[in-house]
Amino acid sequence: MTARVLDGKALAAAAEGELATRVAALAARNGGRVPILATILVGDDPASATYVRMKGNACRRVGMDSRAIEMPATTTTEELLACIDELNANPDVHGILLQHPVPAQIDERACFDRIALAKDVDGVTTAGYGRMAMDEPAWGSATPAGIMRLLAHYEIPLAGRLAVVVGRSPILGKPMAAMLLNADATVVVCHSKTRDLPTLVRQADIVVGAVGKPAFIRGEWIKDGAVVVDAGYHPGGVGDVELDAIVERASAYTPVPGGVGPMTINTLIWQTVAAAEAAAAG
Ligand code: NAP
Repeated sequence: MTARVLDGKALAAAAEGELATRVAALAARNGGRVPILATILVGDDPASATYVRMKGNACRRVGMDSRAIEMPATTTTEELLACIDELNANPDVHGILLQHPVPAQIDERACFDRIALAKDVDGVTTAGYGRMAMDEPAWGSATPAGIMRLLAHYEIPLAGRLAVVVGRSPILGKPMAAMLLNADATVVVCHSKTRDLPTLVRQADIVVGAVGKPAFIRGEWIKDGAVVVDAGYHPGGVGDVELDAIVERASAYTPVPGGVGPMTINTLIWQTVAAAEAAAAG
């Protein structure tokens, strides 16, 4: 069997066409005003700067604006909270992205949770997570929400399937597990204290690698016919799963790069456009 490629790059590109139409329609209704995503970058981590730049570029591709706020590495929690308060109060800003991680002296959770729910287009607030987990309307955390869009597009069946999520971070593993559960999968969430990870992964119909270690999930752990979602991205285009080993045995997989990454960015701007539409509708 040769696995199907779950092509996030192609799906994101197609979705950008639709988003451009929606942005143009919003502008026509609102005197030329387009949705605005505010991005906040604290410190000088080069990878974070690249991610923020890619998000700004994606906004421009669909005709949206982004407002890039850069704060020094010495920023305090209070200063960052004040910046978020200002953006929350600004009616021209429809979405707020606080790039993770922030410098260690900042209380990241407090800052995430200060983002107004309606503008939490990256799905990072405790309230948004809780609403999503309860299957109530909320913007999903961008990476797992992007993965769900990709799985839906390729009509990957989830109901009753055993999904094993490796990783439980607040922005990826935990919301991923809740979304899969809401889609009626049976979900196992693994983490650094999990015992006998290979045995758990071997049973999975769907494996999500969200562990942050290159090729950590071995190809031999993946059962024949499984669907493999690799959220990891490491230098040299390596993900969290040993993908080369499974392309002949899995039924479908996300490539690295070109799988989960483009869907994350696309979901962020998709949710910003939807937030702007909601704001315009009053
Ligand atoms: P993270 O915050 O570092 O979380 C890693 C998770 O992996 C933790 O829950 C940790 O468990 C678990 N873990 C660590 N060692 C383990 C082990 N030996 N066995 C089982 N689980 C283990 O990372 P993250 O932010 O969720 O990111 C995960 C990956 O996704 C990274 O490669 C990152 O680059 C990638 N990512 C990609 C995108 C995208 O857009 N493509 C977006 C975000 C992240 P504990 O909780 O017990 O510590």
